[in-house]
Amino acid sequence: MTAAPRELPPKVTVLSGGVGGARFIQGVQRLRERTGSDTEITVIANTGDDIWLHGLKVCPDLDTVMYTLGDGIDTDRGWGRKDETWHAKEELAAYGVEPTWFGLGDRDLATHLVRTQMLDAGYPLSAVTEALCRRWLAPAHGQGLRLLPMSDDRVETHIVIDDPESGERRAVHFQEYWIRHQAAVPAHSVVAIGADKATPAPGVLEAIAAADLLVIAPSNPYVSIAPILAARGIRDAVAQRSVPCVAVSPLISGRAVKGPADQMLATLAGGTSPKHVARCYEGLIDALVVDESDVLDLEGLGSVRPIVARTLMRDADARRRLAATALGGVPA
Ligand code: GDP
Ligand code: CA
Repeated sequence: MTAAPRELPPKVTVLSGGVGGARFIQGVQRLRERTGSDTEITVIANTGDDIWLHGLKVCPDLDTVMYTLGDGIDTDRGWGRKDETWHAKEELAAYGVEPTWFGLGDRDLATHLVRTQMLDAGYPLSAVTEALCRRWLAPAHGQGLRLLPMSDDRVETHIVIDDPESGERRAVHFQEYWIRHQAAVPAHSVVAIGADKATPAPGVLEAIAAADLLVIAPSNPYVSIAPILAARGIRDAVAQRSVPCVAVSPLISGRAVKGPADQMLATLAGGTSPKHVARCYEGLIDALVVDESDVLDLEGLGSVRPIVARTLMRDADARRRLAATALGGVPA
């Protein structure tokens, strides 16, 4: 006889960036379905990567979570729509309109058009996100799942780099650092501009206060999670929690699966061991899920309890198992 599945916490609130966060949340969603649980999941997503392009408001992390959960994502790239075409981008480039380095797909454009129209009509980003999620998180996908932007206010993550062309030190938008410069230049510091004045979106602080478990997804600590924590009151709300908070490391064998997290940790935290990841969340987490490949490197975690697991979210089963580990040893 198999043991009856243990129950998931009734309310789970997840802080998330784009690709790593979205894949993890998909695992939570699958776990929820598998265990027949009615756990309520609230995702608080980073908006520090948001950017205005060609007059359109683009929210990469919100869209990655939305498309991933709604089965509209390009699974190979991890971002953008599946079955995408790039005619509009080519036409813009033919006009010589800058910037040409950002991947704006034709299908994706529809999302940005709807979002921008609603923002122009006076709706806050949280209301716009809710409206967009009516398509992507329809009951089949989104039952019990809410996606909230961290704030309705403008926050922009900038990275201080030495410009490879001019040699001058300057701050560039995260998207420019990541896509245009391919993160090939060292990041001297990260600044979430506007975060100190940004009010958390409606429901954000409530979701942190009401949660039975807080989870920090395997997202980039500096550019995906730090901007969320920097919005007014969010860091304090997590620090003052009365429930456990568990983070999942985005590093495997000290390397990022994708993206600049390992380079950033090496430069800004002094290393890529679990203790360096934990230090990004000092006072905020009780446990850190680390990959089994990092099991010999668990020193210096202090009061943070390591939970060793396979953390590569290769497929749906792997995502679900990782979610089960993070949510407290629930059989997956
Ligand atoms: P972004 O906003 O699209 O960059 O996405 P996130 O910040 O949410 O996620 C990026 C992070 O996810 C990177 O640091 C990756 O190392 C991490 N990541 C991606 N896939 C995996 C995976 O399968 N396992 C783990 N542990 N981390 C992953
Ligand atoms: Ca992002």
